[in-house]
Amino acid sequence: MMPFDEGPDLLPIDSKKSGSILSVAIPRPLEGLFTYRLPAELVPLVQVGGCVKVPFGKSITHAFIVEPPKDIATIPEALSVALSGVKLKDVLAVNPMGEVLPPDVMKLCHWAREYYCAPLGEVLNCAIPLSLLEESQTTSKTTRKTSLAKKASKKVAPRIVQFTDEQSQALKLIQQFQEEGSTRVALLNGVTGSGKTEVYIELARNALAAGRGVLILVPEIALTPQLYQRFEEQLGVSIAVWHSAISPGRRRQQNLALRTGETRIVIGARSAVFAPVQNLGLVVVDEEHDATYKQEDRVRYNARDLAIVRAMFASAFTVLGSATPSLETRERVREGRYSQAKLTRRIAPGGFPPIEMIDLRTEEKVQDVQALLSLRVVKKIQATLDAGEQVMVYLNRRGFAAFLLCRECGEVKNCTNCSVSLTVHRKDAHLRCHICGYIEQIPDTCNKCHGTDLFPMGAGTESLEVDLSRLLRGAKILRLDRDQITSAKRLDQILEKFRNKEGNILLGTQMLVKGHDFPGVTLVVVVLADSLFRFPDFRSPERAYQILRQVSGRSGRGDQAGRVLIQTFDTEHPVLQALDGRLSEETFLENERELRQCLGYPPFGRLARLRFESNINNEAATRASFVAQQLNSQNNLPNLEFLGPSEAFLERVKGSFRWDLLIKSKSFPALQKAIGLARQLCFSNKWQMSVDVDPYSI
Ligand SMILES: [Zn+2]
Ligand SMILES: [Zn+2]
Repeated sequence: MMPFDEGPDLLPIDSKKSGSILSVAIPRPLEGLFTYRLPAELVPLVQVGGCVKVPFGKSITHAFIVEPPKDIATIPEALSVALSGVKLKDVLAVNPMGEVLPPDVMKLCHWAREYYCAPLGEVLNCAIPLSLLEESQTTSKTTRKTSLAKKASKKVAPRIVQFTDEQSQALKLIQQFQEEGSTRVALLNGVTGSGKTEVYIELARNALAAGRGVLILVPEIALTPQLYQRFEEQLGVSIAVWHSAISPGRRRQQNLALRTGETRIVIGARSAVFAPVQNLGLVVVDEEHDATYKQEDRVRYNARDLAIVRAMFASAFTVLGSATPSLETRERVREGRYSQAKLTRRIAPGGFPPIEMIDLRTEEKVQDVQALLSLRVVKKIQATLDAGEQVMVYLNRRGFAAFLLCRECGEVKNCTNCSVSLTVHRKDAHLRCHICGYIEQIPDTCNKCHGTDLFPMGAGTESLEVDLSRLLRGAKILRLDRDQITSAKRLDQILEKFRNKEGNILLGTQMLVKGHDFPGVTLVVVVLADSLFRFPDFRSPERAYQILRQVSGRSGRGDQAGRVLIQTFDTEHPVLQALDGRLSEETFLENERELRQCLGYPPFGRLARLRFESNINNEAATRASFVAQQLNSQNNLPNLEFLGPSEAFLERVKGSFRWDLLIKSKSFPALQKAIGLARQLCFSNKWQMSVDVDPYSI
């Protein structure tokens, strides 16, 4: 810990004199608070939840005010003795935006710091990114104007959408749970296309009418424009949209509108869980099972779980919605801690699309294309296009080819920084690392044997686009992947084009899966399902099932019946049997549940992952083993099980070697104790270690 920063130009603090000090959280991966001298003229401007500018090391940074300033005369003697002689730097300025983090958000941040074992400054930085604090004169003026203009439309509009019987029942049931208060969380378990969004809108309408605020979380920004429109049209109030692609100016404006209570509802991605909604009454987490709720860098929080905690702090009600609820949430329902309402029928007249497996081992395949495509699938796509209907094609890899293979010696071109092969991007003639972004020209010869027969293996969305447009008559292909989608605007444009039928094939990666609603789509094709369930992770069957169920759900949402074709080498896999009905969903989930229970994995045990990183391979491994040994030898840490240390799934990333130690326990306090000990060990040795509580990919 280094709470005090020394420098030659600093005034020594004199405990006999009067004056104030302020301890602040710095947005860096550092433990503890940092103390500064607070000049007298700044004292009245300071409030908890606000920000200051302070010198830190050689730079100046924003810092968060997490406690009131202390008068030197009143601080305990021990502290004042400790402080006397210490040279404190001055707080430079107080941010004029005042309290940017309301008390309930602050409380949530403190909770997250404790639970996820993350530095407070970093958590607060997730809640309010520093870019928002850079006050610019021009935006604050326009803010005032637009807010005044919008103030006119305040009344919540009445409902106009007709509900199905099932929707009405589900709504009634959830409202009943809400009133009875026996549970504070309800699962809305509704199949794809069953009209969950309308139920959310009704619940939001009721909360707003009762004077409460509403927070709606969706897994990806990709989903927000469409959802936002539906909410705004049906509720007739202004809604804040909250995700990282929103410009700082707009964010500041929305932040202000939420804090003043002028806007009372926010829709956003993961970070919206921290949005300053006033008097929160309802929290909705759509697609609660989605892995994107888990932040995978810096503070590794799960927004779904934080949303439930935040709602609890605010005495608000939480609704988790999903067509494929996570095993964790299902278990809470089973235990009676969450209540449940179900939607089992689709609104669309065609009902559920039949799902058909295409066995790539036996099916006749199209020759001379990059992707494995069965003739039957291509014919079916053609027939769909000929009928004037739309097709979605899902392939979980962008780029032209999976890797570049030397057919003379078998060498595969790998990233120089990471333990993965480089993906071939033909359009710009590059090999690219999808982990660290490393780029090199596609070589002419093999660097091992100098052979010239370098062959791109496997397919990506880029080659599939080329192949499909060559194979199909009248194909107008739109592509949805991270190479194509560089901004929220670009995404909107492509989705809008597909909606207007300017394209008849939407080809894409994971981005395609999320709740898009295109009534013209009658065929969904999964190019290769196998990559989804071959991951070495205990959640991979569950996740493969969720993704394939979601992507299948994109078909037949309009008046025409839909169908789904899944290409695979493993037609007998339980995930696929559960999808096409050979195995019931209940049986599949029950098997997964039993397996988890047997192994003590979530939801039956808790996990934390300690990750050791170093540029030297042995070093990361040695440190991991040392910490494992130390933890193992503690007799005051019962009920713990250690897995590893072992190299991470991607052992090398950006030149850094990564070793993992997984801790499993039925007792969360025991887990936290072990983490605390490991952190102490690493801190005193100055080793870098990151902690992931409830990790999502292991
Ligand atoms: Zn070679
Ligand atoms: Zn790389």
